[in-house]
Amino acid sequence: MSIAIQIAYLISSILFVLGIKMLNKTKSARQGNRLSALGMFIAILATLVQIQVISFVEIFACIVVGAAIGLYYANKVEMTKMPEMVALFNGFGGLASFSVALSDYFLRTNVNLESIELVTVISIIVSVFIGGVTFTGSIIAFLKLNGNISGSPITFKGQHPLNLALFLSFLTAATFTVIDQTDPVLIIVLIVISLVLGVLTVIPIGGADMPVVISLLNSYSGMAACATGFILNNNVLIVAGSLVGASGIILTQIMCKAMNRSLVNVLLGGFGQTVSSAGEDGPSITVKEIGVEETAMLFDSVSSVIVVPGYGMAVAQAQHVIRELMEQCEKRNIDFKFAIHPVAGRMPGHMNVLLAEANISYDKLIEMESINDEFPNTDLVLIVGANDVVNPAARNNPQSPIYGMPILNADKARTVIVSKRSMGKGYAGVENELFGYPNCLMLFGDAKQTITKVVSEMKEM
Ligand code: NAP
Repeated sequence: MSIAIQIAYLISSILFVLGIKMLNKTKSARQGNRLSALGMFIAILATLVQIQVISFVEIFACIVVGAAIGLYYANKVEMTKMPEMVALFNGFGGLASFSVALSDYFLRTNVNLESIELVTVISIIVSVFIGGVTFTGSIIAFLKLNGNISGSPITFKGQHPLNLALFLSFLTAATFTVIDQTDPVLIIVLIVISLVLGVLTVIPIGGADMPVVISLLNSYSGMAACATGFILNNNVLIVAGSLVGASGIILTQIMCKAMNRSLVNVLLGGFGQTVSSAGEDGPSITVKEIGVEETAMLFDSVSSVIVVPGYGMAVAQAQHVIRELMEQCEKRNIDFKFAIHPVAGRMPGHMNVLLAEANISYDKLIEMESINDEFPNTDLVLIVGANDVVNPAARNNPQSPIYGMPILNADKARTVIVSKRSMGKGYAGVENELFGYPNCLMLFGDAKQTITKVVSEMKEM
């Protein structure tokens, strides 16, 4: 490999690392994305220059078609459907590594009949395994989230022993493949087991845990790419794959911590099955309602407000009207902030992205740890389409499936208004005792419609 190519790969790797670092802050995230894209562009150019045997026309045609499909879907996809899109991305990432590993294997064994080095054959096996599991696992995750198959856990007797038996069979076939690299039956066994295991490991996991699974599959797709880097002897693919693998696993860990679940607990599945409402067996919750006019009057009389956004804000697309509400409050010198829970919505950073889209300045968005002590001194909390992330059962009710999950202490504010359509439950499927608290008032209706009316009232005051 020439020095120039090595330097180009080094520059790409530095741009990837800087890009990921900049994704850490909402303010620098777009720039980080651009840097990483530039890194990828340099890596592709360097690879094309290095490998001159391929047809540039074919590669260019593939890039144009792939980019056009990506651009079309990225523009079309709704924010609430983003986890589905990420699931597909991961799946195709896994499929790419899987296909490259297999084509390399068949090229070496069938065409060149050369014996493959040990490190390469192991990399091919690892890439086929992780790539295959990632591909079918991600497709199942996509189908579950998209409602094409049931989001509830699909379990059967002997499921975990079956998975273990398949994994051990894979290891056995892999060992024989290392010994006899040219046996096509063995490689077919490896292909089939990895694809089946992808399906079997994701079906028992409930829809509620799917975002965690998607983050984990993202990590797998990085590891598969890393293994493919070893097959192709391509340093930049090894670096990029490792970065994706490591960042995916860190994100998975952060999500598990924010939901107070262990990764093993998520992967063994069945969470959605055991969910029972915290208040289902107890007395039903009696709530107090508030109307649009009274809400506007309340806003007019307070000096501090915290808005807690949740998944319902994304569904209602209420972020723009919430910015208008903020402007009305600031005109009245009301201290106005947003409390951001790490797993509010359906993907990490979901609320930050929506609020940034509505031009709400980043310094108004306060993370859970920093804002939780401020609730007792806050006059009014407006909860917009959030439910689980403010459910006090996570603190008080050891029987609740969400017990132990860190929550925003919204219930401790002087007054709480909850904007939601009905008494519908959140993602975890548990009832929220906060709605029955004496300081809590329910503003029923679609968040965008009701808050638009509140803002109009405030404008007329
Ligand atoms: P949530 O608990 O899912 O509750 C969302 C609420 O929004 C629902 O109760 C719903 O009630 C309301 N809603 C829906 N459409 C609405 C509309 N048009 N207008 C007003 N309200 C509307 O949401 P969350 O509090 O954000 O909690 C997130 C949940 O997702 C947590 O359980 C978390 O563990 C889970 N999760 C998140 C991530 C992540 O990365 N963010 C990952 C994995 C799991 P109505 O139907 O009554 O309107």
